[in-house]
Amino acid sequence: MLNLEVMLDEEKIQSRISELAKEIDEDYNGKNIIVVCVLRGAIYFTVDLTKKMKTQTELDFVKVSSYDGTESTGRIDLKLELNENIENRDVLIVEDIIDTGYTLKFLKEYIMKKNPKSLKIAVLLDKEERRKVQIDVDYIGFKIPNKYVVGYGFDYNNTYRNLPYIANLKS
Ligand code: 5GP
Repeated sequence: MLNLEVMLDEEKIQSRISELAKEIDEDYNGKNIIVVCVLRGAIYFTVDLTKKMKTQTELDFVKVSSYDGTESTGRIDLKLELNENIENRDVLIVEDIIDTGYTLKFLKEYIMKKNPKSLKIAVLLDKEERRKVQIDVDYIGFKIPNKYVVGYGFDYNNTYRNLPYIANLKS
């Protein structure tokens, strides 16, 4: 039987995202940026974050393969390429979580090869204790312990993404 324990409720998530949006607006200070949403998990975070931002954004998507069930494969495959030309543009990657760091390391290298003017990274959650590779992240919503989470974009075998809160999935 699957059992959900709420870790971050809707109000907490939304209020932290408002703070991040303000910080991002202050940093970009009127620039026009490209937001790269990492499908599928970061879709909810990207929508709420960009709606709260005043910075003019163009939206693009990438898709990478990550987890198989609840275990990291450690192997990253790019499933969907960027659509926009990001050369000489200010790019913000929006990702749901940094765990081992492999996904963001891969994406950072992929994007840097396309010569953006600048690259920053925003993640909603950070499981710091699981890190395998060092990656600098510019905006972090919440640091969480090493627990498998679902809801607000996070899935378990592609279900639970549409919960408005983030919960720990207990078996
Ligand atoms: P990393 O490459 O940093 O190890 O992992 C990043 C990816 O792992 C995320 O994009 C996300 O898809 C997945 N991931 C890591 N922890 C969790 C979790 O607790 N729940 C879910 N649903 N996915 C996770």
